[in-house]
Amino acid sequence: MTRAVCGIVLHPAGHTLSPVMHQAAYRALRLDATFAVHDVPTPGFGAKLRELRAAGLTQLCVSLPHKEAALQLADRTSGAARAIGAANTLTVVAGELVADNTDWLGVTRAVEPHGPWAGKRATVLGAGGAARAVTFALRRLGMDVCLVNRTRERAERVAADLGARVGSLDEPWDLLVNATSVGMSPEAGVTPAPAASLRPGALVFDTVYRPLETRLLREARERGCRTQDGLEMLVQQAVEQIRIWSGRRPDPAVLRGAALAELAR
Ligand code: NAP
Repeated sequence: MTRAVCGIVLHPAGHTLSPVMHQAAYRALRLDATFAVHDVPTPGFGAKLRELRAAGLTQLCVSLPHKEAALQLADRTSGAARAIGAANTLTVVAGELVADNTDWLGVTRAVEPHGPWAGKRATVLGAGGAARAVTFALRRLGMDVCLVNRTRERAERVAADLGARVGSLDEPWDLLVNATSVGMSPEAGVTPAPAASLRPGALVFDTVYRPLETRLLREARERGCRTQDGLEMLVQQAVEQIRIWSGRRPDPAVLRGAALAELAR
């Protein structure tokens, strides 16, 4: 079998954890694959994709700001990617480029063990790509989803597309999800929800994973909430990406260990 050519495309490249997670999984599964980081600004995405395909691309992880373009440039798309409106995974299958979204599965696997969730209420902060994947996942778990976003019109679009509604942080919730970039390093001192709004006993899930314990999660823990950090979502979406192209499911602990070691550097 020829060597698989994998990688991630994003901008700015920053300190993405995808290379260490994927490479650790390939080693553990003894997969013969390379993984490269491609820092590509928005206008260059289509050209880069053509170049990578000519060079034998097997799979490409897609991050900000290319997830919507990836969906549009694919020959085929999964139902989940279409519904969410974004693709984080491009796989070459029999010469065709297939777009998928594994972010929502990452959300499901991070949240589901804290359930059951059917019929319960979620408030999702944000209305970007992450919020779309979160909303899709929570709706599939049977939750009532209320969206709160700085730009209300953006939340209204997500709500209409995914069967959610737009509301405010004052409404009751069983699960609060931060799907904004607020609280992310280097601006880790800020929080998207005041401590007083956090409900003891409820679950607070922050999709931000740098730092692992954001101010939101620290305050939630101090208020007696249950908490879930963003690393599990990141690990599980990568596990699913590797399963899609290799047909084999890596041990999530291998990816988690590699990511934690990188975060500690
Ligand atoms: P995006 O499409 O750029 O959306 C960013 C969201 O954050 C928008 O809703 C935006 O509100 C809001 N926002 C940004 N700055 C804000 C501020 N100062 N105050 C209030 N709201 C603010 O980005 P994305 O792809 O959805 O990613 C969002 C975050 O999700 C990322 O930063 C990342 O930490 C996390 N994420 C985690 C994973 C994971 O696997 N754990 C995967 C993907 C993303 P407006 O609409 O008003 O601009």
